[in-house]
Amino acid sequence: MLNISKGKRLPIRMCVSCRKRKLKFDLLRIAQVKRAAKASENFEGANDGSRSVFVDEAGKNFGRGLYLCNSLECFEKFKKSKKLCRNFSPTTTLRICSELERILGSDV
Ligand SMILES: [Zn+2]
Repeated sequence: MLNISKGKRLPIRMCVSCRKRKLKFDLLRIAQVKRAAKASENFEGANDGSRSVFVDEAGKNFGRGLYLCNSLECFEKFKKSKKLCRNFSPTTTLRICSELERILGSDV
């Protein structure tokens, strides 16, 4: 159990799959970064139109993001939920999925 409610302001985010609230550090982040006119060359993520989408392992990138539990269970559910497809292009979806699989596979 997490004891996070009193006093400390720890960043809490909700998993898009199971909708549980967890510490940000315990979640994987799928970041979406708008490709601005400048400084867009540094992103290694897939290009999805005007966005770069990638799994932000360090959690240091700004911009919008989806959070997902660091668990295969949530990932599988997430994959089936079509949330990815709705948000991202098929190419990006595939890429994000394989990246998440890699991370979860080596981490769990
Ligand atoms: Zn979850």
